[in-house]
Amino acid sequence: MKERSSDKLSAVADNIKRINENIANAMEKAGRTDKVRLMGVTKTVDPEIVNFSVSKGVTLLGENRVQEFLEKRDRYEGDPEIHFIGGLQTNKVKYIIDKVSMIHSADSVHLIEEIDKRAAKAGLTMDILIEVNIGGEESKSGIMPEALDELAYRTAEMSNVRLRGLMAIPPVDVNGSSERYFAAMQKLFSDLKDKTSGDGRFLIDTLSMGMSGDYESAIMHGSTVVRIGSVLYGYRDYSKH
Ligand SMILES: *Cc1c(COP(=O)(O)O)cnc(C)c1O
Repeated sequence: MKERSSDKLSAVADNIKRINENIANAMEKAGRTDKVRLMGVTKTVDPEIVNFSVSKGVTLLGENRVQEFLEKRDRYEGDPEIHFIGGLQTNKVKYIIDKVSMIHSADSVHLIEEIDKRAAKAGLTMDILIEVNIGGEESKSGIMPEALDELAYRTAEMSNVRLRGLMAIPPVDVNGSSERYFAAMQKLFSDLKDKTSGDGRFLIDTLSMGMSGDYESAIMHGSTVVRIGSVLYGYRDYSKH
């Protein structure tokens, strides 16, 4: 039987409330007084549900499929802020450049050069995060940690991108935990911040890490944006897309 739409919405409202409480508790436990943002990750989620979450305060959305985003965006309401977080092919940059305000998945000079070029054409500066393959996994996207400095300084030479920080999708270790990877990201982030402080070409303030299963642990390690899909919107039904 199809779940009634009002049931679905009240479940999402409950989820948002619970996630916000968990975020507040983790912030307190970490002794943090700065801010962490809750991003709603919208893949496969109907725009009606997304709009409802925006009305409940989830004003930052994460998109990771270009085609799906382009099909859905005209139905978004409430003027959410939208970031692109998924794997991005160079030839797709032009479709999203004026429709998102940050790209979390910048992971090569080639891609960042294309973002810079398209941003210049559109008359804007794009904020980017460099995605780091913090687990060193062969099959994963992201640059290796050793390559970070060089890539970061390359971005500084480009006038239409601005590096805002780092993003990671860490693996879980044998204990089912991502904790040591979050700790490693926290260190990379704070080193990058220190190195670039006072250099006006950078504004390093964003560490994007933590998803449904591990966002509290990510917050303990300094995450400033947690990207949450399934525990917010419910389990994804890929058959619909
Ligand atoms: C799907 C996705 C998420 C959210 O995953 P959940 O485990 O459902 O919270 C976060 N980040 C990226 C890049 C994703 O593709």
